[in-house]
Amino acid sequence: MSKNQGEWKNTGAQSAPENKKKRYRRKRKSASIYFLLWTVFSAFAFLMLLLFGITQYVVTAQVFKGEAARDVGDKGQRIQKELSAPLPSTENFSIYVERLAHRYDVSVVLFNAEGDVLLPKPQEGDSAAITKKQANKLLQELSKREEDSVVYEGDGEYVYGAELKGIDGSVSYLYVAKSLGLFEAANESMGIRLLLASLFTFVLAFAVASAVSGWLTRPIAEITQKSRRLAEGDFDVDFHGNDYGEELASLADALNFARDELSKTDAMQKELIANVSHDFKTPLTMIKAYASMIKEISGANPEKREKHAQVIIDEADRLTALVTDVLDLSKMRSGLETIRKESVDISTAVEEILSRFEYLESEHGYILESHIERELYTVGNSVKLEQVLYNLIGNAVNYTGADKKVFVNLCKIDDTLFRFSVTDTGEGIAEDELSTIWDRYYRSSQAHKRPVKGTGLGLSIVKTVLQKHGFAFGVESRQGEGSTFYVDFPMEGENA
Ligand code: ADP
Repeated sequence: MSKNQGEWKNTGAQSAPENKKKRYRRKRKSASIYFLLWTVFSAFAFLMLLLFGITQYVVTAQVFKGEAARDVGDKGQRIQKELSAPLPSTENFSIYVERLAHRYDVSVVLFNAEGDVLLPKPQEGDSAAITKKQANKLLQELSKREEDSVVYEGDGEYVYGAELKGIDGSVSYLYVAKSLGLFEAANESMGIRLLLASLFTFVLAFAVASAVSGWLTRPIAEITQKSRRLAEGDFDVDFHGNDYGEELASLADALNFARDELSKTDAMQKELIANVSHDFKTPLTMIKAYASMIKEISGANPEKREKHAQVIIDEADRLTALVTDVLDLSKMRSGLETIRKESVDISTAVEEILSRFEYLESEHGYILESHIERELYTVGNSVKLEQVLYNLIGNAVNYTGADKKVFVNLCKIDDTLFRFSVTDTGEGIAEDELSTIWDRYYRSSQAHKRPVKGTGLGLSIVKTVLQKHGFAFGVESRQGEGSTFYVDFPMEGENA
């Protein structure tokens, strides 16, 4: 057995922690905060720019085109009117049309029903001011709408068209156009500006992401490094997170709490091992000493031999009880043991346990008063629950005052619950110890003279058993006046 343990320790101590460390340090596949932030910032900026670009294009196009249509319509009408009026005598018609075009900042063309340009006269070698296609389109629009004048969007321009009737009855057509070139130029320059803005935003996203991720990951890296130290058993680490916002502050608080709990548990485990080994050693020393005494001195004296043998038996009993308790606790805590549940008559169990203490009343003057309601059943493990009741009554007897009084009570609270309580008149328990007595594992102060033998693990067993059952329990105590330990049992049929 001891050999096995030794072997396990050797292999475990050398390789397991190293393997674990390697496992934890393995490269993770998930992306870093820096990369995530950069992606999110860039995607956000890109979306915003896209949205801005689209709205800008659509709105500008609508406003500009609306304005261009109104403008060309307005100017076209005025030009039509001026052309219908008699010519200033000094002017030649062709120059007059050119002047109008210049004045209104539009192009003005007159063509006939065949689509041939009349004015401005195409110079030799030059192409006409408008193509036949443009002229035909105007004629088409005019006939389609059956109006005297039309405004429509042509190829890269807005066009006003109207029919002009000469005094001689001839018909010609007026073509007034305003180019959309300005809008397209503005649009192009806006595109370039948006592209530059996108580039700038990506660079900015890069800078902001690295600044923010640096700010965010610094405390996380610090916390990770400290957690590793904590895992290696350094309980002096202190986690800070206050400078980095509420979430990290509460993470640091939680880790500080975990550290305190771990260090308490660690101290308790060490204390447990020290005390249990001390308690194993004491009876073993006694057994050895008394066995030697029987061998060398009292062997021939039946009276002394009897006394010394009894000491050996008592000490062996103590050892057995201690081993049983330690095993029980570790089995329950490790979760290896499943608690078998059945219907338990707590009333009968309490009475039976009280009868085990009767010798204290007859031989040591203790007064155990009890008020027990009959037929109170719960569902649980009878052996473990009896152990709980025994430990609590035993403690009350051990720690009660000089009047040696103990009160045991079992009564219904309501239709779903009944309460077991045991009250003593002893020193009581200091307030700051009330929550820790359950976790103390073991307390070595054996100064108190105990009529009931305890292994020092009593309350730990009580807590573990009751938590496994899911039953509520607690203690109320006033220093100098005594303590009351209680357990609330769910009635059979009401168990969770
Ligand atoms: P033990 O009684 O063997 O020391 P327990 O686990 O049963 O171990 O109890 C743990 C500690 O809780 C005791 O050492 C004692 O200090 C305190 N305690 C338990 N029951 C009482 C009680 N009824 N009155 C005062 N202190 C108590």
